Amino acid sequence: MDQTYHLLISAELAEGIRRHGAETFPHECCGALLGRDISNEFGQEQREVSALFPLINRRDDSPRNRFAVTAEDVKDAEKAGRQQSLDVVGWYHSHPDHPARPSQFDREHAWPWYSYIIVSVMAGQPAEMTSWRLNDDRQDYSPEPIQIGSSAAV
Ligand SMILES: [Zn+2]
Repeated sequence: MDQTYHLLISAELAEGIRRHGAETFPHECCGALLGRDISNEFGQEQREVSALFPLINRRDDSPRNRFAVTAEDVKDAEKAGRQQSLDVVGWYHSHPDHPARPSQFDREHAWPWYSYIIVSVMAGQPAEMTSWRLNDDRQDYSPEPIQIGSSAAV
């Protein structure tokens, strides 16, 4: 657990995630977060999201409550990142009619290091948005504070 991490995202990109969740409702949306890790003036590690890479939810067995990122998705997202000199720093998905909390499925399918943004979409309307990182023991997530706005970092 590392409480010094923050996730910086512009209001425009945050709105883009909400809009994607509303568009795919009642199914889940998913996508990649492209950006980079930076150190701010206080020496704290911050993660800045600079672009989104929307993905198609390929799970047709249960698209309402299961999002799955395939190896092909990862390759596509990393390629899109390289073209913009950005890294894949995380993934986002929506929870239709469910709170913005990681599910058991999310826990079991997460990878360390990445940020996981979850947006709750209630009755088609985007609601709470949260971000999470898997703990080092991989047993649970820690919340990662989201800072919306422009970055103060160099
Ligand atoms: Zn989920």
